[in-house]
Amino acid sequence: MHQSIVIKNVNIVNEGQIKSTDVFIQNGFIQKIGNLSGEITKDAKTIDGTGKYLFPGIIDGQVHFREPGLTHKGDLYTESRAAVAGGTTSFIDMPNTVPNVLTTEILDEKFRIASKKSWANYSFFLGVNNDNLDSVLQMDTSQFIGVSDDGLYFTKKGNLLADSPDTMEKLFSNCKSIIAIHSEMEKIIEENEEIYRAEYGEDVPIACHPLIRSEEGCYQSTKRAIAIAEKHKARLHILHLTTEAETHLFRNDIPLREKNITTEVSVQNLWFSDKDYQRLGTLIKWNPAIKTEQDRVGLLKALLDDRIDIITTDHAPHSLEEKEKPYFQSMSGAPMVQHSLYIMLELYKQGLISLEKIAEKMCHNVAILYGIEKRGFIREGYFADLTLVDLNSPWTVGKENILYKCGWSPLEGETFQSKVTHTFVNGNLVYENGNFSEFIPGQRLEFK
Ligand SMILES: [Zn+2]
Repeated sequence: MHQSIVIKNVNIVNEGQIKSTDVFIQNGFIQKIGNLSGEITKDAKTIDGTGKYLFPGIIDGQVHFREPGLTHKGDLYTESRAAVAGGTTSFIDMPNTVPNVLTTEILDEKFRIASKKSWANYSFFLGVNNDNLDSVLQMDTSQFIGVSDDGLYFTKKGNLLADSPDTMEKLFSNCKSIIAIHSEMEKIIEENEEIYRAEYGEDVPIACHPLIRSEEGCYQSTKRAIAIAEKHKARLHILHLTTEAETHLFRNDIPLREKNITTEVSVQNLWFSDKDYQRLGTLIKWNPAIKTEQDRVGLLKALLDDRIDIITTDHAPHSLEEKEKPYFQSMSGAPMVQHSLYIMLELYKQGLISLEKIAEKMCHNVAILYGIEKRGFIREGYFADLTLVDLNSPWTVGKENILYKCGWSPLEGETFQSKVTHTFVNGNLVYENGNFSEFIPGQRLEFK
């Protein structure tokens, strides 16, 4: 039984506007928005929203929650719990769990596990690579929220679609769902690796990472993938853009709903740049790599002018031991899902982005891009997935407040000015001022 809740006098950040009002939540949905009094809310729990800001729950379009198979790094319970503590109420998880999600049976198994363990609402990509291409082409691909090759190259080299134009031709000419690709050319990367290996041996300095996984490797890959997608009118989404150069390959002269080619930026690429390698070493080793300060600024510019459509995290936990190895052995990826909204609110505090734009890129547009039903907006009749934020409540990221199973973050020591005080998932108040409710499972995302 859901408790009815009314949030009073809150600034709702929604659809390009901020307005002060009340929000009434009942039976899991946003029942009424407006100045409410008396009868309708008399049995409801009241939360005072004075001075606070209410966002639609964040929808993270790219996470790696590691279950099944890699649960020493993270699992659907621990990472979804960290997500809701940071205001993220829905996520889409990538296919490089073990076994890789290359069949509908394995996909169904992930849905089954999530229905028992996930605090947040969830969906999953079906994996696609050279090995299962023919069987994917036999499936009704319109039933998937998306197909992706992201992360699959970790299990087997040569699994990036970007390296196989023939595979892309076949897939793009047949697939009816969104095709989300990791865009780097392995051939260019391998050539660069040899150059640096010749110079440094196995102990290549991490500062060389963006020169090995170079701008050229990203740009050539993205350019070719877009050309093939345009030829077949495929629905292509380029994951985690890292270079300013690539942003010029995307359009902003048509609305998102009309785009066949879309892209995203992950929060770490708006926060870190190559100057941070010296301080943080392999903790900020990502694929594709964090690039230059000019790239960081260029990505933010493209986000603001709508060439970049959404913000994700690519949340990818590893144990510290797996991260703190020499360059070639250190795992790529880092945990971010608990801190994504904080990074964006900090950029707001720095005057670099508006609150309305944050809601658009982290909530509205993710729902539009993936066709997610009744989420991503603060609207009557929509699911009550909501995140309440105090913009003036500074705190510092430290081991004691990190909720990831791996227990660390590249943001340790960082002070953020804002704090998520309440998170609602399907109308349930699951997180309040550092405390969690009893476990209530999230729901499977429905899409059009
Ligand atoms: Zn990823």
